[in-house]
Amino acid sequence: MAGGLSAAAAFRKVTPATARAITSPMNIYDISLPLHAGSPCWPGKSPLALTATRSLLRGDHCTSHTIGMDIHLGTHIDAPAHFIADGITLDQVPLATMVGPCRVIEFLGSPASEIPSQIMAGGHPSDRVLFKTFNSQLLSHSKFDPRFVALSEDLAHLLVQDGVRLVGIDYFSVDRFNSPDRAVHHILLGSGVLILEGINLAAVEPGDYQLIALPLNLVGAEGSPVRAVLVR
Ligand SMILES: [Zn+2]
Repeated sequence: MAGGLSAAAAFRKVTPATARAITSPMNIYDISLPLHAGSPCWPGKSPLALTATRSLLRGDHCTSHTIGMDIHLGTHIDAPAHFIADGITLDQVPLATMVGPCRVIEFLGSPASEIPSQIMAGGHPSDRVLFKTFNSQLLSHSKFDPRFVALSEDLAHLLVQDGVRLVGIDYFSVDRFNSPDRAVHHILLGSGVLILEGINLAAVEPGDYQLIALPLNLVGAEGSPVRAVLVR
């Protein structure tokens, strides 16, 4: 045959078995929640809608989907514009805020409690602080659970005072369920502190890590879904 690959060979099927395994000298902890139609969802909000517009299985030339989701579904970052009328949107925040040293602090309080400011005793920890609580156990359930642990207002004030730039919690709000005024959101976002919500810290020990939580570049949006990892 006068040279050239057959079309079949040129488009050789790649399966996981043929993909080269890549190892990393670092431990990478994926603290993001998987997104699917059955992911836990804030009451009244819509679950993820992943809709195939083209499908190889249906005989189309490729497979393609549209995504429909609330920005605050799953693992995501809130920017000031989420609660502050003239607050900046996430595309205006330097990415350096979302990448860098981070401390995971464990709070062993009971369901529906608030993390007190005393948890920060011991001085200024890091520019980024993530709180691991009872909530990480709730994340294995597909049903939303209102008994999640939240931050106290005192703790929010202290974090602002300490110059923390990003605060994370392992459920979908830093304020307790049915908070009348969402004071913790207002305290943090009003001071330009980003909030990382919906992280799963079940497999992560307390301690120091590097955080990488990069948002989509959604122009003008009050937040974004992120793929968040801890590295060390
Ligand atoms: Zn949010």
